[in-house]
Amino acid sequence: MRTLTTTLLVIGGGPAGYVAGIRAAQLGVQTIVVEGEKLGGTCLNIGCIPSKALIHAADEFEKARHWANHSPLGIQVPAATIDIARTVKWKEGIVQRLTGGVGVLLKRAGAQVIEGRATILDGKTVEVHTAQETLRIQCQHLVIASGSIATELPSLPFGGPVISSTEALAPTALPKRLVVVGAGYIGLELGIAYRKLGCEVAVVEMTDRILPTYDEELTRPVLASLKKLGVVLHLRCSVEGLDEGGKALRVRSSNADEFALPCDQVLVAAGRRPRTEGFGLESLHLDIAGRAIKVDDQCRTSMRDVWAIGDVSGEPMLAHRGMAQGEMVAEIIAGHRRRFAPAAIPAICFTDPEVVVAGLSPAQAEEAGLDCIQAAFPFSANGRSMTLESTEGFVRVVARRDNHLIVGWQAVGRAVSELAAAFSQSIEMGARLEDVGGTIHAHPTLGEAVQEAALRALGRALHV
Ligand code: FAD
Ligand code: NAD
Repeated sequence: MRTLTTTLLVIGGGPAGYVAGIRAAQLGVQTIVVEGEKLGGTCLNIGCIPSKALIHAADEFEKARHWANHSPLGIQVPAATIDIARTVKWKEGIVQRLTGGVGVLLKRAGAQVIEGRATILDGKTVEVHTAQETLRIQCQHLVIASGSIATELPSLPFGGPVISSTEALAPTALPKRLVVVGAGYIGLELGIAYRKLGCEVAVVEMTDRILPTYDEELTRPVLASLKKLGVVLHLRCSVEGLDEGGKALRVRSSNADEFALPCDQVLVAAGRRPRTEGFGLESLHLDIAGRAIKVDDQCRTSMRDVWAIGDVSGEPMLAHRGMAQGEMVAEIIAGHRRRFAPAAIPAICFTDPEVVVAGLSPAQAEEAGLDCIQAAFPFSANGRSMTLESTEGFVRVVARRDNHLIVGWQAVGRAVSELAAAFSQSIEMGARLEDVGGTIHAHPTLGEAVQEAALRALGRALHV
């Protein structure tokens, strides 16, 4: 068996692992990244990017169908149809370009990529099974970036008509009736996309509302949109399993009534859990936090020179958090002084309309003991929103009452995902309401609603 030695060994080439690999190699640290499937991980191959591609395709298709019926803009097109195989091929093209790019970036930085499955033997030794051979790698630092996997429900094991987001993002044909289990990120992003692609969609959620991690006011426009689109919601319901023919999902409501939802496919989107099993991790006996590897504010685990980053280190399981952790760990290993203490990690739900949050909501600020003011500016008073035919939603700011320091932003509305940068930047830079209110925002843009929310919190909004 060949043995390699390296300073840094990263297990997993997803956003957390590949960024750690690029940055460490850029800084001259001898680095090996081991990836068992495809570089880019969940995010580029079966997550963020494919889902946003499918959502875009569904939006465009819905637009074309809308035009075919009636367009106040005067656009006329014949009845629209979709060739889903071509849509999937187009999506795969984007994935290939991005994953290929990751390989080039790692190589250019000087990192070595090994395609194979890693098994941890101890904190400094990993065995890698490649297509050609079994290697042993000795390292000084071990970074675990093994990501997460979809949660399987005991009553609905994956297989046949029961699918996870992975299969939902590569359909060979569209189901006539899709039932989605879980009204969280994946359930609603993909549920809406499938509805726009022409499927009948029903969503079963065990809590009493959609997107339970966001505040209710923020999700109200999404709820209205689901109704308008014809997505049927079953809240406070649990799933019992498929009926014998596999053509209906048995659901139990909170008052114990059981009913059947006809379906051709069931998308289970009931959360994801850190991938901590099947590669010898247990042999390290690391401290665990829930189902994740416990880390400190430098992503150090309970074992010296063993680090954990990305989804395997717990919530929030978002690509940009993993990337930021990866960059930081690489710099610490290269001798820099770093700590993971972001003032805000933005989160976006790419529903229609989109939802974005950064920092604290009014309720979270109160829980944190802060005396805050808040103000919202509605897109119904924003000219750009009118020209985009989408005036629902608002931007809301939360700031300390005493010194006007901004502690949180929330928005819901069309294309608000692009406001995430302004939100996080203002919080990270310690902006006050006066800073944002006093910045000239270009007209006509959705960004003007950001400035107006700040002005409104100061009691001097101009356009509402
Ligand atoms: P992963 O991306 O899961 O990568 C881990 C990698 O490690 C994998 O490639 C795996 O093959 C490899 N690996 C694991 N074990 C081994 C081993 N023993 N040997 C070798 N290789 C191994 N996040 C966002 O921020 N925005 C979004 O819009 C978004 N959309 C999403 C949509 C969907 C449908 C899904 C499922 C997720 C989405 N996410 C989104 C979450 C995002 O994909 C994850 O937070 C992100 O991919 C985590 O990165 P990671 O590097 O920690 O893990
Ligand atoms: P989620 O945690 O967002 O939502 C899961 C939903 O399923 C919750 O509303 C929960 O109450 C419900 N649920 C759980 N068990 C259930 C059951 N037995 N019956 C009915 N409902 C049930 O999880 P997800 O949508 O699977 O996404 C997983 C993770 O992936 C997210 O938490 C996020 O970290 C990441 N993600 C992010 C994005 C994004 O950033 N835009 C998009 C997709 C996924």
